[in-house]
Amino acid sequence: MIDIGEARAYVLARCPAATAIAVPCREATGLVLATPVVAAEDVPPFANSAVDGYAVVADSVATATDSAPVELPVVGEVAAGAFTDRVLKSGEAIRIMTGAPVPAGADAIVMVEDTERIDNGERVAIRRSTSAGAAVRPRGDDVQAGTALYPAGTLVSPAVAGVLASVNAATVHVIPRVRVAVLSTGDELIDDGSPLQPGQIRESNRTMLLGLVRAASCDAVDFGVVRDDEAELERVLHQAAVECDAIVTSGGVSMGDYDVVKAVLSRIADMRWMQIAIRPAKPFAFGLLGAGGRNVPVFGLPGNPVSSIVSFELLARPALLQMMGHVALDRPLVQAIADGGLPRRPDGKTHYVRVFAKFGADGRVHVASVGSQGSHQLAATSLANAIAVVADGDGVQPGAPVPTMLLSVG
Ligand code: AMP
Ligand code: MG
Repeated sequence: MIDIGEARAYVLARCPAATAIAVPCREATGLVLATPVVAAEDVPPFANSAVDGYAVVADSVATATDSAPVELPVVGEVAAGAFTDRVLKSGEAIRIMTGAPVPAGADAIVMVEDTERIDNGERVAIRRSTSAGAAVRPRGDDVQAGTALYPAGTLVSPAVAGVLASVNAATVHVIPRVRVAVLSTGDELIDDGSPLQPGQIRESNRTMLLGLVRAASCDAVDFGVVRDDEAELERVLHQAAVECDAIVTSGGVSMGDYDVVKAVLSRIADMRWMQIAIRPAKPFAFGLLGAGGRNVPVFGLPGNPVSSIVSFELLARPALLQMMGHVALDRPLVQAIADGGLPRRPDGKTHYVRVFAKFGADGRVHVASVGSQGSHQLAATSLANAIAVVADGDGVQPGAPVPTMLLSVG
């Protein structure tokens, strides 16, 4: 058995980031920047009003109060998207809307709530004094042209994409989404809804893995269920390698397996068959399958559904993220409190116990086992939102801390 760290290092060393492509910033969300972005423009591009109100010279309304308002003539109006070349003089007001350019000469905006229209809007009573700069958003107040905004490796969130649009970074260089082929192997697997014949089971890993692949923000391509037939498996794997950037298979990698997956992959790809000191998901295979001058990573996950998901989490997901340029490959790891304890026996393996995590009144993350921990019991695992990492030994006492990978908490 090898250590999970060794398995992971082996996999990550063979899954480099893909080549960058140029995409419109609108399509960059969820992808990682391949080159730094420097702001080409100021945001906002001109000084503008933060409120609906009146542009004034602050000094000219210095005495304004509720009981003794200052009355000014309204000499113009400017809406968002419009512009006035009228230069405001001290003692005048220009009606202005949020986002409209501050007229030359004005140095403050009085919000409409502090004013009163008089003479049909020809004049305005200002009921509150103001100071220079009030309610004015200066040019470049958000972003200044020339600023280094985002380094390479930045994950483009929706807000980052918005900023890219705001500085006119219309096209950005990103690492593209990885296209991942997903297939299941096994003569016992049925996925067409027909009545089960003796020995048959419903296929479920593919449905789960397609979702896990998509949740990792890859493009998932369904290659179906492949029978335990060498020629057929070889054909499907070759097609997957040609059409996709990575392949995820489930089934056929354990010790006692009928040898089809092993036989075929050993022959056509450069594989490493691993026994990892973890539970579940001890058997795992990884290799590179050559196709058209490219090396396509193959993740051979075990068939037991819980092993399959844990294997994906620990080995395939970080590798796929790395292929998409991500720097942070791991789920957040917190020291959680094991409310009910997580007992186990020493067996030389690290146990990945599926738990439900929630924030306690003490502000800490608390975890409790979701129940059945068998590698075939996907129903219990489907209720987990975290995985407690229980080191070899006798387990975790009730109330004791346990390192926990958060899959989702909220
Ligand atoms: P294997 O890794 O092929 O030896 O399979 C281990 C166990 O997982 C067996 O009980 C299989 O029937 C089951 N299994 C394998 N593939 C799938 C799948 N795609 N969906 C559900 N169960 C599976
Ligand atoms: Mg099988």
